[in-house]
Amino acid sequence: MVYTSVEDPTKEYTSGTYPKQEQPAPGLQKRMTPVPDCGEKTYKGSGKLLGRKALVTGGDSGIARAAAIAYAREGADVAINYLPYEQSDAEDVKALIEEAGRKALLIPGDLTDEGFCKEMVDRANQELGGLDILALVAGMQQAYKSIAELPTNVLRKTFETNVFSLYWTVKAALPHLPKGASIITTSSVQAFSPSPELLSYSPTKSAISAFTKGLAKELAPKGIRVNSVAPGPIWTPLQVCGGQIKSDISKFGQNTPFKRAGQPAELAGVYVYLASNDSSYVTGQIYGVTGGLPTA
Ligand code: NAD
Ligand code: MG
Repeated sequence: MVYTSVEDPTKEYTSGTYPKQEQPAPGLQKRMTPVPDCGEKTYKGSGKLLGRKALVTGGDSGIARAAAIAYAREGADVAINYLPYEQSDAEDVKALIEEAGRKALLIPGDLTDEGFCKEMVDRANQELGGLDILALVAGMQQAYKSIAELPTNVLRKTFETNVFSLYWTVKAALPHLPKGASIITTSSVQAFSPSPELLSYSPTKSAISAFTKGLAKELAPKGIRVNSVAPGPIWTPLQVCGGQIKSDISKFGQNTPFKRAGQPAELAGVYVYLASNDSSYVTGQIYGVTGGLPTA
């Protein structure tokens, strides 16, 4: 991506078909073909988040990794959370944050554990010396052909990961967040146009939209903004770790008006915008980055 030239959005980034591939969840981004583009070689900062302190959940890979890299290059110190299995992807992100001259903090652990959510927030706050950006991006997605095949333990874990962890993390963070802080959640195009095979997932994304809008109203008088990003189909580990019915992976993203999947790098800008003072008059909003799929 060349920022200064006029580029055709239908031709940007990887397009065409994807090779069939599968990993057990949560997967490793470095084992994907092609490896997702999280802006490692392209994102250029311009001091928009100088001196800020960010906690990014899911920051080892995919969309959150793109946000973490961009935050560091915009001048923020960044703590990332991920599952212990993802340590090697997380180490790569730590190196990129440090190359940007910022402090990187790795906090592995499971967000379905309320006690861990509090420990994570307290560690980030203490070791970064404050906290003013919460980018809550971690999530899980498992596809099943029918509701009849959907196991209750997957349903429960999906809600705990995608929804309950937000309550636990925000409750723990509120005492630390100053006026001017920004909370960013991660919804999905699935909240607006649910696929039948994602019945455990899409309702969590509607819940996140409602959570975001309601929390924004509560926190507006405290000077804390709360917004959400609703991505369309983005090439990330989540999609090759049971997030799609296997046979669908090769055509991933071709149902969009741009007829291609997005890359995580294409989300970095909106996570930076919503964290920065550029969005000082924005709260309670859901920002679609979907290749043209509707988010209303
Ligand atoms: P990803 O696999 O790179 O990121 C998901 C991350 O969630 C993992 O890296 C993992 O660290 C974290 N995670 C999952 N379960 C966890 C748990 N119990 N405890 C701690 N961390 C846990 O995939 P991604 O697509 O970048 O996903 C990021 C977010 O974007 C998710 O919320 C997902 O629902 C959302 N999203 C993705 C797409 C897409 O097409 N990829 C579309 C819409 C929304
Ligand atoms: Mg990961």
